[in-house]
Amino acid sequence: MVRKMDETLPDLLARQSHGKDRRADAGRKAVEAALLEGQQRILRFLIGRVGNSDDAKDVLQDFSMRAITRADDLRDVASVRGWLGRLLATAIADHHRRAARRPKPDLGSDTWTDLSETLAQPDAETDAVVCDCLHDLIGLLDPGTRDLLRRIDLLGQSRDEVARSLNISEGTLAVRLHRARRKLRDLLIQMCVTCPEHGFLDCACDRARARQQAAKAVNSGGSL
Ligand SMILES: [Zn+2]
Repeated sequence: MVRKMDETLPDLLARQSHGKDRRADAGRKAVEAALLEGQQRILRFLIGRVGNSDDAKDVLQDFSMRAITRADDLRDVASVRGWLGRLLATAIADHHRRAARRPKPDLGSDTWTDLSETLAQPDAETDAVVCDCLHDLIGLLDPGTRDLLRRIDLLGQSRDEVARSLNISEGTLAVRLHRARRKLRDLLIQMCVTCPEHGFLDCACDRARARQQAAKAVNSGGSL
């Protein structure tokens, strides 16, 4: 009897502390898995661009830091696509500039001169990887939030038209839209702080810690 109690006590405690949150916990894990997949997609793209995994992780780190520290620039979904694309293109161009300064005896100097002139404008592939990434992030939002961002930011429907169809005031719509963009911004930051090597949002490796600190600074001072 005593033995049985000893066996069940940890289960009981676990149930008391986690039972109610089990469904929320499963939801959180699904979101984390989706954020990690989005980040791995960008990483695979970067490996193709810079040629190896270590450099790709450096560029991803650079891109993530820029996205986190400038996340308050997020005004609407349509413009965030171009904004993220430019950040990613700039991170890649900066990597090539740094590489050009290192001696590369096996490559002609013309190659590196060309690369150093790369403008921070996303090409079609860079834009596509950013677009896929945003599509994934929006997919993680609840249907109401998703619908609102699609209609206002992507389809460009007028606010009074959307407010009327939802049978709410324009003031209420403005509040909901503000919250919707904030949720998307938070997801973006979560994706950027997800560790591509270890997969955990609370990873304690140096890269992950630097990103978490940047995110904390944005979240405490954020006004969006
Ligand atoms: Zn890590």
